Amino acid sequence: MINKQFISSIYNYCDRWCDRCSMTDSCRLFADEKEQQLTDEEQDIRNTAFWNRISENFSEAMIKLEEMSSEMGINLDDLPPAPPRIVPEIHKELINQATQYGIEVNKWLNELFDYFEESLKLNGENRQVLFDSVIDFCEVLRWYSMQIGVKISRASRRDEDEEESTYTYDQNGSAKVALLGLERSIVAFTEILKKIPQYEDPILVFLAKLAIIKQEVNHLFPGAASFKRPGFDV
Ligand code: SF4
Repeated sequence: MINKQFISSIYNYCDRWCDRCSMTDSCRLFADEKEQQLTDEEQDIRNTAFWNRISENFSEAMIKLEEMSSEMGINLDDLPPAPPRIVPEIHKELINQATQYGIEVNKWLNELFDYFEESLKLNGENRQVLFDSVIDFCEVLRWYSMQIGVKISRASRRDEDEEESTYTYDQNGSAKVALLGLERSIVAFTEILKKIPQYEDPILVFLAKLAIIKQEVNHLFPGAASFKRPGFDV
């Protein structure tokens, strides 16, 4: 049964930052995960409990899949190979650029946090105020750092037998999420630069990289910017 409270496929074109999402009441995925009442540990990707939960869910899903396949007379061990997924060369370059950006920005954030940790020991109160003023923007950078490349990658892949209309819609939706991550990261870096101008050199390099990636996303996915994400863009 379709629940009118939920917006269909809203979670396919969001940034998955549920803690900061204004549409949680309209999201089935959020409701399902809440129903499971996960602990903080089970939601923390660095915690063993997270991976135990994923493993349990996967096992349950496989049992259900085997039951359903058996009812339908399908042998899962005898399926034809999946059609190859095609990624054009020019897209691969962009995916590499975005992935590299993600790796570099995470490294830089780690160094920045090390710097703050050291200077907090020396000049606690003043440094704490400064740290508090940038931490939110650093979280934004961290959140989108790897997601940009992942979304560009998703937008670039196409199954050999996929229909043009389905492909184009999903491609534009995924590229739109990448664009949002790029724009929010540009804003975050601009705000951080105002607070810690001594980091101007690396920040300007990152801003240039983000601008180039954004330009290329708009070029390769011309329908992305105007894509209306279900629930978010009206
Ligand atoms: S739509 Fe919002 S609540 Fe649902 S998965 Fe995306 S970020 Fe989370």
